[in-house]
Amino acid sequence: MAHNDTVQAAAAAGTAGPVPAAAERLYPAERLDRAADAAARAGLAALLLTPGPDLRYVSGYDAHETERLTCLAIPARAGGGTAGTGAAAPFLVVPRLELPAAQASPAGSLGLEIIAWDETDDPYALVASRLHGSARGRAIGLSDRMWALMVLAFRDALPGTGLALASAALRGLRQVKSDAEVAALRAAGEAIDRVHRKVPGWLRPGRTEAEVAADIADAIVAEGHARADFAIVASGPNAASPHHAASGRVLQRGDVVVVDIGGTMPSGYCSDCTRTYSIGEPPAEVRAYYEVLQSAQQAACEAVRPGVAAEDIDAAAREPIARAGYGDHFVHRTGHGIGLETHEDPYIVLGNKTPLQPGMAFSIEPGIYPGPHGARIEDIVVCGHDGAIRLNTLDRGLVVVEA
Ligand code: ZN
Ligand code: ZN
Ligand code: ZN
Repeated sequence: MAHNDTVQAAAAAGTAGPVPAAAERLYPAERLDRAADAAARAGLAALLLTPGPDLRYVSGYDAHETERLTCLAIPARAGGGTAGTGAAAPFLVVPRLELPAAQASPAGSLGLEIIAWDETDDPYALVASRLHGSARGRAIGLSDRMWALMVLAFRDALPGTGLALASAALRGLRQVKSDAEVAALRAAGEAIDRVHRKVPGWLRPGRTEAEVAADIADAIVAEGHARADFAIVASGPNAASPHHAASGRVLQRGDVVVVDIGGTMPSGYCSDCTRTYSIGEPPAEVRAYYEVLQSAQQAACEAVRPGVAAEDIDAAAREPIARAGYGDHFVHRTGHGIGLETHEDPYIVLGNKTPLQPGMAFSIEPGIYPGPHGARIEDIVVCGHDGAIRLNTLDRGLVVVEA
């Protein structure tokens, strides 16, 4: 599900990143070359990456998001080398006061030129001049989450240059996880499963959704995440709203409660898992459609194979739900990719014909929301050579909490 609702971070956001040995595996130095090659394949002159998941993916630098420009410029590199292409080396532009942090980050050991700018310099003009006019008449790829403040400044600093999304180049790299990335996602999955194991103890009649969500946010950090990103506690009629967050509603006996939670690990990789609980015995109709939901989630997981289109996984989840007459109550896509962002490519939705590849990681999270209740089951899976590998392993049955 799309989680714009951010639970207050319970831990200070560290910018130091993982220890160097681990960082080397998770954020290998050859990513820079691979990104430069991917930019050439996408027909872009260069990539400009500001703080966010694209910059972290390519360089390991978990840079502070601020109005002062930090930007990794990666000129495209055709043919696997710079000779004869006129391509320059990548460089990282940082505000002078953040130079020590940049040098101490994994980006500091990539052999990159790091250029500090002073408060009265124009860092956009600096980047533009360093691109040596190679971008004129061509397009450059801007990180998808670059601030508009920076997009418009680059537009003005690079007249005659088209602006495109860096994902045109980076999507193909980021959506196929390395073994180290899968290990990081597995650790995130195990951590969030440990939180779900504690949820029954917090779902007590008389408590509010918000109180339960606060317990969950604390546990997300206690179980190893660097921060809690979201905690949906949707009880009673709120369970019929897929993106309900957590309100002052008081839990009651007979409530069905959808609990969808996730956070970001110190590695940078995210967790996201949903289980549905019932406080005492649920309404009979919930029992009936929950079985349909569980078989739909299972069918979608079993459909995962290399070469199968992403949209076919969505269809596999949707078919049993439609057949049981609940098709109109499954109102969202079946899933989303996950990695350095909770939601990223590949999206598991009708129209996405991307063939699955080993290493692609995504959620499978069908839901049925007929009201005045609803249910969802969500696991993160990785496409393996022979099928789906689930990274969330808790039982998927409706969890009945004795009230
Ligand atoms: Zn969501
Ligand atoms: Zn999700
Ligand atoms: Zn979720």
